[in-house]
Amino acid sequence: MRRKIVAGNWKMNGSADLAKQLVGYVRAEADTLDNGVEVVIIPPALYVRDVLDQSGDVLGVGVQNVSQWVAGAYTGETAADMAKDLGCGFALVGHSERREYFGESDDVVAAKVERVLASGLAAVVCVGETLEQREAGQAQAVVAAQVKQGLARVEAGQWSDIVVAYEPVWAIGTGKTATAEDAQSMHAAIRKVLAEMGAPSEGISLLYGGSVKADNAAALFAEPDIDGGLIGGASLVAEDFVSICRSM
Ligand code: PGA
Repeated sequence: MRRKIVAGNWKMNGSADLAKQLVGYVRAEADTLDNGVEVVIIPPALYVRDVLDQSGDVLGVGVQNVSQWVAGAYTGETAADMAKDLGCGFALVGHSERREYFGESDDVVAAKVERVLASGLAAVVCVGETLEQREAGQAQAVVAAQVKQGLARVEAGQWSDIVVAYEPVWAIGTGKTATAEDAQSMHAAIRKVLAEMGAPSEGISLLYGGSVKADNAAALFAEPDIDGGLIGGASLVAEDFVSICRSM
């Protein structure tokens, strides 16, 4: 059985107040869910403590990014071990915004995945093609390369801490969602790549992200290879986020 996960990526949004209001509400609602979904909140690092204070043992909590280094003179960076130390269970790695604005290559992603796994967190590794790449018919090749390179340092025995999030760049924050069929076909392709890498691909959860909303989540989650979602904008609205969690 694969983990079913709905994770809210707040990006650089929110406040200590939102952590209090929204997370308390989501925790209470998540407590009533009987669909086996793990609900995870991924706030900016500065609010992780506030979110943890509200999450009880009901919600998972994660960070949006970690350093590729263990510790030391890296001003401004956050080590995976620190996130683990605080009580996080997850770290996003390789979000397309990190790749685009912070120049994260697949090699950097691989180094960060290594750090995340070494710290005992689960890595939610993001992959996805741009619109140009999709229109040029390269979507599957691009995503396959990201999966292979980003997960190149995962060792046998560590795969249970790997989650892959497929987020087509053209669907993030744009209101355009991949159709359930397109998303399913990419997820099946990713699972095939994982199998080729020797990973226990049938056990690895694959999340879809990119303009997931309360009204399109159920169709996406109904697909056989879509095991949950990575939610940006809609995760900042408590009712919408809970409704997406209920759609699993
Ligand atoms: P979105 O973002 O739901 O706002 O499109 C998803 C993401 O970037 O994780």
